[in-house]
Amino acid sequence: MQSLQVIDTPKLSKVQALHEPKVSDTASIGGTLVAQTAHHNFSLAAQQLGLSADQQLLLRTPFREVKLSVPVQMDDGSLRVFTGYRIQHSGARGPAKGGIRFHPSVDAGEMEALAEIMTWKTALVDIPFGGAKGGIACDPTKLSAGELERMTRRYVSRIHRLIGPFRDIPAPDVNTNAQVMAWILDEYSSRHGYSPACVTSKPIELGGIRGRAAATGTGVGMVLEEHMKARGRSLSGLRVVIQGFGNVGSNAAAFIEEHGGEIIAVGDVNGAILSSGSRPLRVHDLIEHVQLTGSVVGFPGAVAIDNEELIALPCDVLIPAALENALTENNAGDVRASVIVEGANLPTTAAADRILRDRKIDVIPDLLANAGGVIASYFEWTQNLQQTQWPLDKVNRQLRAYLNRAYRAVRKVAEGRDISLREAAWLIAIDRVARAEALRGAMRTGNARA
Ligand code: NAD
Repeated sequence: MQSLQVIDTPKLSKVQALHEPKVSDTASIGGTLVAQTAHHNFSLAAQQLGLSADQQLLLRTPFREVKLSVPVQMDDGSLRVFTGYRIQHSGARGPAKGGIRFHPSVDAGEMEALAEIMTWKTALVDIPFGGAKGGIACDPTKLSAGELERMTRRYVSRIHRLIGPFRDIPAPDVNTNAQVMAWILDEYSSRHGYSPACVTSKPIELGGIRGRAAATGTGVGMVLEEHMKARGRSLSGLRVVIQGFGNVGSNAAAFIEEHGGEIIAVGDVNGAILSSGSRPLRVHDLIEHVQLTGSVVGFPGAVAIDNEELIALPCDVLIPAALENALTENNAGDVRASVIVEGANLPTTAAADRILRDRKIDVIPDLLANAGGVIASYFEWTQNLQQTQWPLDKVNRQLRAYLNRAYRAVRKVAEGRDISLREAAWLIAIDRVARAEALRGAMRTGNARA
């Protein structure tokens, strides 16, 4: 295995170096598109690193997968049994870390792919965590607050032995928030004693950290700013389109506007809007509109467009910040931005990625672009363990430092090897996890069995 010369860390063990590079023909490929995307991204980097087939198999296979039934008494007295998951992909570099999602699309394949992404993301930004993901297949918009709470608590009651501050630390993801994290904290602590470090993105009153709620979107803006700086530009005057105006999209929009960029169009699940005339959208007013109406649609003064038009708008930067698979082979050819910043996880399919690369569009990959949230979660975890409270300016200063360091490492590898930012990000991340596995002995064991 070729070790990365450009990273300032020790080389891989000799045991690994003896293995011939092979294409990843043994790593499992799930049936879903996101699993295929993760596999594609992994394989490109694994080939660059010269990982053997058994090394790839070890690194890609989740450490632990749990599928559980979550019975919930509904408000009308009936009983429903939801299906929940918790996938712990890797704990090689520290406790597993990853969000919990409530969404109808949640299934084992999606959870596996998203858990794996977390392993590479925490490794890339060099925080001492592994990767995990969990969720419940449900439509939370059809559940009352009481039903949501009972569902969350039942889920935790069935996995509490597998999670915890030094095993696996959940956080929010799509359709979960600080309140859900507070229920998790309460349910876990009722069995294990008060344990604020068992979950992150909690309310401030329960040990949450200032700036965490905005950190993913803020981080998207910070990484974009660093990228533009490397190209001799700033955010000032950049025309930006954002798909998805939830936590990530709206906070990214606020950061970019604050630093001189112009948000010209945004979309959500209900539709999209384009600023009219030469005036960009006013982000603060738009956030208020969404809080009042539940959607960006109908924002006064803006023109309604559909979601396909949004992707194809002429602009400098496109930020997919909704769900997976936003950019596919069907629409990647329509993109007219010169930079894409992946606010969402796995928003670009493998086929779309090839098209964008051929078209020389810079893609700042999800591993890097949306890592701000998990970095702030790491700060929160350390704050909880040390019983301290960080001020907001320290959180944001440190957030920028971690992201900039990761961005520069990715850029250096990409330029040094003439590969994409995505390949470079995965390559650095996989290399770090592989070295941790080797030092812990798992790689040798895997090789001996192969
Ligand atoms: P959210 O639920 O707050 O917002 C999602 C937004 O996407 C909403 O505006 C929704 O209307 C929109 N959307 C959903 N389906 C859509 C569709 N088909 N077309 C257009 N818009 C659609 O979620 P979030 O927390 O902002 O997360 C967004 C993405 O970022 C997800 O992929 C998530 O995994 C990823 N992410 C989130 C965080 C975090 O800290 N919240 C961290 C890392 C990655």
